[in-house]
Amino acid sequence: MSKVILVLSDGLRYDTAVAGMGYLGHLVEAKLASLYKVTGELPSMSRPMYETVHTGLPVNTHGIVSNLVVRLSTQPNLFQLARQAGKTTAAAAYYWFSELYNHSPYDRIEDREVDDESLPIQHGRFYTQDDYPDIELFATAAMLVRRFSPHYLLVHPMGMDNMGETHGANSSEYRNHSIRQDMWLATYLTEWMERGYCILVTGDHGINADGLHGGTTPDVREVPLYLIRSNDAGKGDTHEVVSQLQIAPTICKLLDMDIPKTMKAASLV
Ligand SMILES: [Zn+2]
Repeated sequence: MSKVILVLSDGLRYDTAVAGMGYLGHLVEAKLASLYKVTGELPSMSRPMYETVHTGLPVNTHGIVSNLVVRLSTQPNLFQLARQAGKTTAAAAYYWFSELYNHSPYDRIEDREVDDESLPIQHGRFYTQDDYPDIELFATAAMLVRRFSPHYLLVHPMGMDNMGETHGANSSEYRNHSIRQDMWLATYLTEWMERGYCILVTGDHGINADGLHGGTTPDVREVPLYLIRSNDAGKGDTHEVVSQLQIAPTICKLLDMDIPKTMKAASLV
């Protein structure tokens, strides 16, 4: 049965990823991965884009119009659809994901670690601090893979966003962090590929030189999409520009799930 891991690197710009993430670049060169440039939806803010990536819907339809909208998703989303299809779900992610799909508002004691088959995110490990170390987050995700073999796993590190907001995107701190993420990911990606996972690596939005995002310019809008399929050759650098709305239907297809009518954009596979 098909399994998918989505690595949603918060604040990962397209140009920074392509320049700094050498192992992912190697997979592209070796045609073990396909690289796309994604035009992000607007506003280029986190919580609205978490919901867009998971529903395939624009903000005006799903209603999570800013980071300040704190409520559960009301739209068909990847976690809910996977559960309805009898699949196992997991996430190592910022607590806003718990608020969108499990329980809102977040209770930092009760919601922090959950293993509950009735929840949309059955195996959840959530953090609340923007400087939570990515290396710990990746290890938690790798634990979830080994312990639960989830059909759908969300891996959501905050390091790029935190470095970008602290130092600006035109900084060695931001750029060098993409190299570190790539290095930490390399080992785990290898194990996950061996376990038969399809893996997507993308960002929710970029970040600008002033250390902010939310607007409409390419620096905050363009993010990469690396698509690694377990049993299929990649296309290398496709030079294609795709829509962020295509990610959710693509994951449905990779999970062998019916694409709901709400997801109108085309799957990439
Ligand atoms: Zn974000």
